[in-house]
Amino acid sequence: MSRVRYVKSVSKIDQIPEEHRASLAKVAARYAFRANDYYLNLINWDDPEDPIRQIVIPQEGEMEPWGALDASNEADNYVAPGCQHKYTDTALLLVNEVCGAYCRFCFRKRLFMNDNEEVEFDPQPGLEYIRKTPSISNVLLTGGDPLLLSTRRLTTIIEELRKIEHVRIIRIGSKMTAFNPFRITEDEELLNMFDRNSTKHGRIYVMNHFNHPREMTVEAKTALDALNQAGVMMVNQTPLLRGINADPEVLAELINELSWMGVPPYYFFQCRPTEGNKPYEIPIVESWTVLNQAMTKVSGLARRARLAMSHESGKVEVPAVTDDIIVTRYHRAKKASNDGRVMLFRRNDEAYWLDDLVPFENQKPSDYQYRVPLAGGSVGRIRPEHNK
Ligand code: SF4
Repeated sequence: MSRVRYVKSVSKIDQIPEEHRASLAKVAARYAFRANDYYLNLINWDDPEDPIRQIVIPQEGEMEPWGALDASNEADNYVAPGCQHKYTDTALLLVNEVCGAYCRFCFRKRLFMNDNEEVEFDPQPGLEYIRKTPSISNVLLTGGDPLLLSTRRLTTIIEELRKIEHVRIIRIGSKMTAFNPFRITEDEELLNMFDRNSTKHGRIYVMNHFNHPREMTVEAKTALDALNQAGVMMVNQTPLLRGINADPEVLAELINELSWMGVPPYYFFQCRPTEGNKPYEIPIVESWTVLNQAMTKVSGLARRARLAMSHESGKVEVPAVTDDIIVTRYHRAKKASNDGRVMLFRRNDEAYWLDDLVPFENQKPSDYQYRVPLAGGSVGRIRPEHNK
């Protein structure tokens, strides 16, 4: 296969029974649908619960009331058109609003809706902001999927960034290694451009998005290998998703496959309470339990990832759950003074998000929250006075 064929209407998918197409089309009218023939061929259509099917094929449960379109309030992070700046050293450039397919649980599905104007197709205002902000050493190209841009446009953006001395790491958030690996393997110009621009001064990182081990096809592995050969560093991040990977065996297989390819897991995300995501969500305690069980089946190199919530206030890690407490810690905080801050919450097995949690012992946050060193701090050793 060289070029994939995109499919933008569920009615064009013969394997979906005729009687279901109309109701799924209604879901797709609300939350955009897009897939391609390569990815659709990974689905076992005999299995209604097939995990690849759950990733891209609409389901009626999406229409159930749940969450918000912009669950982490990204709207608050724009500093220039198409440019978000939340953490001191990292800026985001939203460069397009299309992906190789659309994940049904996408946290940015609002971008695929007609009336959204967050993406700026001219990257210049964002580049200008980055140029004049010396604290920014990392730039994440995101969207949508930046690898849907033409190689010429992507090259222009990356080469502009490379002219900015303080920008060292350029990250590309992409699911194309899973959705359409041919985009990478069949574009020598793209690979050469990565090779030129991923240097000892600063590397290019591809932040992959594999959700399930069945996405790790021969073609996907060939694409990962090609990126590796081009000097690109790679990690993987995925939300934990009901019906897809919220199972210790499945997750362990995914983690192992990735780490054997030299693609370490970076974040496991608590699925954001985004509108339409109800069928995919699992509570925080379940996420933590599944991940910890999976971790017993993988090597130490694969155990470096964190379970985190991309909350409006920062990346909130969940390092531990006890019989009584959910321990959280700001891995990255929007407000710098919160960096590394530990927060203890009363265990609640029904809670899906930070905002659902109640502080442990009914203390006000200021009574029990405190800073621990960013490196080497031991949560278990440091106890607030009133909990001794
Ligand atoms: S690849 Fe990322 S941005 Fe694109 S649909 Fe999936 S979750 Fe959303």
